Amino acid sequence: MSQAPQPQAGGATSAPAVFTQALPSYLDPQHLGPWGIYLQQVDRVTPYLGKLARWVDTLKRPKRTLIVDVPIHLDNGSVAHFEGYRVQHNTSRGPGKGGVRFHQDVTLSEVMALSAWMSIKNAAVNVPYGGAKGGIRVDPRQLTQGELERVTRRYTSEIGIIIGPTKDIPAPDVNTNEQVMAWMMDTYSMNEGATATGVVTGKPVDLGGSLGRREATGRGVFTVGVEAARRIGLEVAGARVAVQGFGNVGGVAGKLFAEAGAKVVAVQDHGGTIYREAGLDVPALLAHVARQGSVAGFPGAEVIANDAFWSVPCDILIPAALEAQITEANAARIQARMVIEGANGPTTPQADDILRERNVLVLPDVIANAGGVTVSYFEWVQDFSSFFWSEDEINARLVKIMKEAFAAVWQVADENKVSLRTATFIVACKRILHARDLRGLYP
Ligand code: NAD
Repeated sequence: MSQAPQPQAGGATSAPAVFTQALPSYLDPQHLGPWGIYLQQVDRVTPYLGKLARWVDTLKRPKRTLIVDVPIHLDNGSVAHFEGYRVQHNTSRGPGKGGVRFHQDVTLSEVMALSAWMSIKNAAVNVPYGGAKGGIRVDPRQLTQGELERVTRRYTSEIGIIIGPTKDIPAPDVNTNEQVMAWMMDTYSMNEGATATGVVTGKPVDLGGSLGRREATGRGVFTVGVEAARRIGLEVAGARVAVQGFGNVGGVAGKLFAEAGAKVVAVQDHGGTIYREAGLDVPALLAHVARQGSVAGFPGAEVIANDAFWSVPCDILIPAALEAQITEANAARIQARMVIEGANGPTTPQADDILRERNVLVLPDVIANAGGVTVSYFEWVQDFSSFFWSEDEINARLVKIMKEAFAAVWQVADENKVSLRTATFIVACKRILHARDLRGLYP
C-alpha cells in the first residue's frame, strides 16, 4: 500500500514530482461571490477555447496577490490600521492595469474578481495590458483630507514594490479621483527619485492626464450602443432611453444619446427617479445635477417610485450606477430591447438569463464600459512620449477602437450563437491564452 509523503526535517516532503494542490478557500468556485461568478464565466467559455483550453487554469488564479497593512496617524494623534490589496490577475499581454477602490466593504475576493474582469476588458478592446485592481478597506467619508492623503501615500508606498509604469498602472475607481491619482504619482515618484507620470492614469491634465478621459467611458457606452442598435434595426434618433446613475458615465452617455436625437425619458440617481414621456431636457438636467447634486427637484419632470424605473416604457436601458441592480426581482419587467452596462456588474447572472430568454440584448460591461481604460491607455502612451494629443484625436481613436472591438465580439456571438457576454469572454480569453501560449512557461 502506498503511503502519503511524510514531512521531513525543515518542512520538506518527499512529494512526487507532479501533484495537485487543493484550491485555497478563497479560490473555491463553490464559495460564491464576485470571484465565484467570474470562475463560472470562465467555465462557460472553456469549451470554445480549442487547444488554448490547456492554459485555462492560468485565468483561474491571480498571478500575484499582495495584502498590505496601511497604518496612518489620525488627526487626533492616534494610529489607525487599514487593510489594502493589489492583485495582478494576469500580465501575459502587458503590464497590469486597473483601478483602486476605497470602500469599507472591499474584500480580497472582490478585488480578485475586479482584477480578472480588467484582464478580460483590456483584452476585449485589445489594449496591451493585463488586468489588475487594488483597494483599501476604508470608509473615506470618515477621513479628513489630510488622513485621506496619508492613507493614499502609505498604501502607494506599500504596493510600490509591484507597481510601476511598465509593471502595473493603477487608476481611479470607486471613491478615488484625480487628486488621489496625483498623490499616488507623487509618492511613487518620490520613492523612485524621478517623476514617473506613467505610473497611474486618470491624473489631472496638468500632471500628464489626458484630454477626453472624463467623458471616455460614457462615449464608449454611446459608441457600442449605436453599433448594436444599427445591427438590430433600432433607430437611435427617436429611441427612448432610461439611465440609472447620472454621474461620469450615465451623464455623458445620456448627453450623447440626446445629441443623437434619442429621448432620455427616465433618469434615476441616489436622490430619486424622474420621468418625462416626451423626453427630458438633458443639458438642463446636467446643469441641475451639477448645481444640486442630484436629479431630484428637476422642474418639468414627473417623480416616479424608484422601483417603477425598471418598468418604464423605453428602448434602451443604461445601468450606470452600482453593481447588482438588474436582478430576478425586476428583469422580467424591463421593457427595453437593449441594455448597455455602463456600470461594472449591474446585472446578476440570474437576471442575465431572464433577459436572454426575453430576447433583450445585453451589451456587457467588459466591452460596453471599456472606453475609460482605452483612454487611460492613450494617457499612458502620451506620458511615455511626453507628447499630448488633441481631444478630437483622442475621441476619434477611441471610437475606432470601440467599433472594432464590438464588431469582433458581435461576429463571435453570431458564429457561436452565444450571448455578447460569453462572446466577449471568448475573444478576450483567446487573446490572453494565445499570449500565454506564445510566451510559454518560465523556467
Ligand atoms: P459617479 O460617482 O460619477 O456617478 C454615480 C451615479 O450613480 C450618480 O449619479 C449617483 O447618484 C448614482 N447612484 C448612486 N447610488 C445610487 C442608487 N442607490 N440608486 C441609483 N443611483 C445611484 O460614478 P461613475 O464614474 O459614473 O461610475 C458609475 C459606474 O460605472 C460604476 O459602477 C463604475 O465602477 C463604473 N465605471 C466607471 C468608469 C469611469 O471611467 N468612471 C469606467 C468603467 C466603469
